[in-house]
Amino acid sequence: MIHQLVYYSRNTVPGGDRAMLTNMREILSVSQRNNARDAITGFLIFDTQWFVQILEGERGKVTETYNRIARDPRHASATILNVRDVPARLFPNWTMGGAMRTPDVQEIYLAHGFGGPIDPTRLKSEQVVALALDLQAFEESRRQGRRLAS
Ligand code: FAD
Repeated sequence: MIHQLVYYSRNTVPGGDRAMLTNMREILSVSQRNNARDAITGFLIFDTQWFVQILEGERGKVTETYNRIARDPRHASATILNVRDVPARLFPNWTMGGAMRTPDVQEIYLAHGFGGPIDPTRLKSEQVVALALDLQAFEESRRQGRRLAS
């Protein structure tokens, strides 16, 4: 079985979209390095002021990774929405995929009923997973398009 943990947290890094993009890139770069080492996969969503992340892998490694992330000063009030064992990884190809809420993914948010900013304090983990799976599919098709174009 694969252990899956879903949490949300509040961004503490000040600045606009550009600062956030840099922040996301740094976080994803370190995450991809560490998660490849620890066989962790998942997806990180950033919407306005909230992070929502899904981590999946071996139970001990997921717990260790979450504990390290929760201490990071770039966010605060990390709150676990759900932990469960699942038969297989939902994000097998992503040591950590990520998506900021930009206009090109707005339709995906709308399709999931998020017209305005998401409020993770009112979210169910299944909604997070469903949104992340669609964002993952969008990112994968975008990457595929880039590969075909080059
Ligand atoms: P280094 O990257 O060398 O960092 C050393 C220390 O400096 C750590 O305590 C780190 O938190 C801190 N640090 C590094 N950069 C900054 C910065 N710009 N501002 C403030 N402090 C900083 N890590 C993962 O391994 N996997 C994940 O999936 C993952 N997801 C994350 C999601 C979010 C929303 C955030 C905010 C962070 C995430 N991280 C993730 C990063 C994690 O919190 C640690 O920073 C990282 O795992 C530490 O890696 P390292 O041991 O190689 O140390």
